[in-house]
This record gives sequence, structure tokens and C-alpha cells, in this order.
Amino acid sequence: MKLLEGKTAIITGASRGIGRGIAEVFAAHGANIAFSYSSSAKAAKELEEKLSAQGVKVKGYQSDASNFAQSQEFVDAVVAEFGGVDILVNNAGITKDNLLMRISEEDFDKVIEVNLKSVFNMTKAVQRFMLKQRKGSIINMSSVVGVKGNAGQSNYAASKAGIIGFTKSIALELGSRNIRCNAIAPGFIETEMTAVLDEKVVQSWRDSIPLKRGGQPEDVANACVFLASDMSAYITGQVLNVDGGMLT
Ligand code: NAP
Repeated sequence: MKLLEGKTAIITGASRGIGRGIAEVFAAHGANIAFSYSSSAKAAKELEEKLSAQGVKVKGYQSDASNFAQSQEFVDAVVAEFGGVDILVNNAGITKDNLLMRISEEDFDKVIEVNLKSVFNMTKAVQRFMLKQRKGSIINMSSVVGVKGNAGQSNYAASKAGIIGFTKSIALELGSRNIRCNAIAPGFIETEMTAVLDEKVVQSWRDSIPLKRGGQPEDVANACVFLASDMSAYITGQVLNVDGGMLT
């Protein structure tokens, strides 16, 4: 059963990793997809071609989600090209890990801008259109680290906890217009973001997860399909952990 047939989804940061996984699974469910990336033009083109072959409309846009004006332009361009927007997945994110004693002001600000301010930029840009059509689903990519904190990731954890507060506030503001806003808190998902980590550390994480494995982008993507589709029509303001039981 195709759960997103005929819907248009915007996904930020889909040239690789979890965002790419979401684009692939959304396309398989019949959604038309507009996605953004920061610099991976080649990977974006490949994804565009691969998904277009499945009979859905797909277009990649180079757009910095942390930039307010670029986010407005991106959404305007998508609405002009696709005729509207039903789903927004705020997925773009970065890490610049360091202990508080070593972290620079620049690295703190950058992570907040790309991970948290981007969510404000994009949500503000789509709300005009979603308000008019009186429907929409917004999904924000938080993290288990935003729920419980993590040594060496104070900037990242603050950005991801901020996303949860933002999500709940928007759910309250826009619920009466049938616009839903939920967050996903992935645990350890094996992507390029985590490939830079020491293999021994990674294996010890896998061993400590109740389901005994790292997650795959598809695991997060499937949760996004649920929150994007009408299957979750009565669910808003929630944080869904996709973490193999890590926070249990
Ligand atoms: P990733 O593999 O590093 O991919 C990040 C994506 O975001 C890329 O497509 C990148 O584009 C894009 N991006 C980066 N900065 C951007 C910007 N300013 N504007 C637009 N796009 C931008 O990361 P990931 O592991 O898939 O993570 C995706 C999301 O899940 C992030 O928000 C992350 O915090 C969250 N998350 C991940 C994990 C995990 O274990 N992996 C766990 C919890 C939460 P380019 O390719 O052009 O650089």
C-alpha cells in the first residue's frame, strides 16, 4: 500500500545518510520529492535520476537550510514547481563535537544555526502554504542526544533539545489548522556522520542497544512515512524515539 501517493514532500539534507533514506522510502510510497543539500551536487543528481525512474517527480536544490532568505526562496521555488507542499522533513544537521573546555564560539554557533535555526527557517517558509491549504505534516529530526545529553556534544545536544521545544510549540500553534508537527529522536544510525567514529566504540554501542544493532536510514525513514501519512492523523507534538530501545 502506498501511503504518500500524490503528496509533495520537502526534505532538507537528502544527498546522503538518513535524508537520502527518507527520500527513497517516500518515493516508494508515491510521494513527489523536493530535497536540499549543502554541497554534494553529484550525489544529489544521482538521487534525482534514481528516484525519477520510479515515476515520481523529484528535484534536488542546493540550499543552505541555516540561511533564512535561501530557505524562503527554496520553498517558493518548490511550490512554483510542484504546486504545493504537504510534508516538510527538517533533516539537515551537522556535528562539531568537543568538550566544553575546547569548543569554540564559532563551532557552537554553527551547530545551532544548521541544526536548530534551519528548523525555524524552513517551518516559517512552509507555514504560509500549509495554512492556506489547512493541512500539513512537519517532521523534525532531533536525536536521543537531545533527550538525554552527551558529553562532548553540548552544542549538538542543545540544538536537538531546542528542536523538541520548537516542535511542541508549533504543534500547539498550528493544530487548529490541521497542521501537525512531530519530532523523531534517532539513536545510533549508521551513516557517514557516524562512520568517522572509532570502530571499537561503535561496536560497544551496538552491544549496549537492546536490539543489538545500529539503526539503518530506512528504520528512521519508515517512522517518517508514518508521521507524514494520514495513518498518524491524530498525532501531533510527539517525540518518537527510533533507537532500538536505547533510551528504554
Ligand atoms: P549526514 O550523513 O552527515 O548527512 C547530512 C545531510 O545534511 C547531507 O545531505 C548534507 O548535505 C546536509 N546538510 C548539511 N548541512 C546543510 C545545510 N546547511 N543545508 C542543507 N543541507 C545540509 O547526516 P545523517 O547521519 O544522515 O543525519 C541526518 C539527521 O539526523 C541530522 O539532523 C542528524 O543530527 C540526525 N541524527 C543522526 C543520527 C545518526 O546516528 N546518524 C542520530 C540522531 C540524529 P551535503 O551532502 O551537501 O553536505
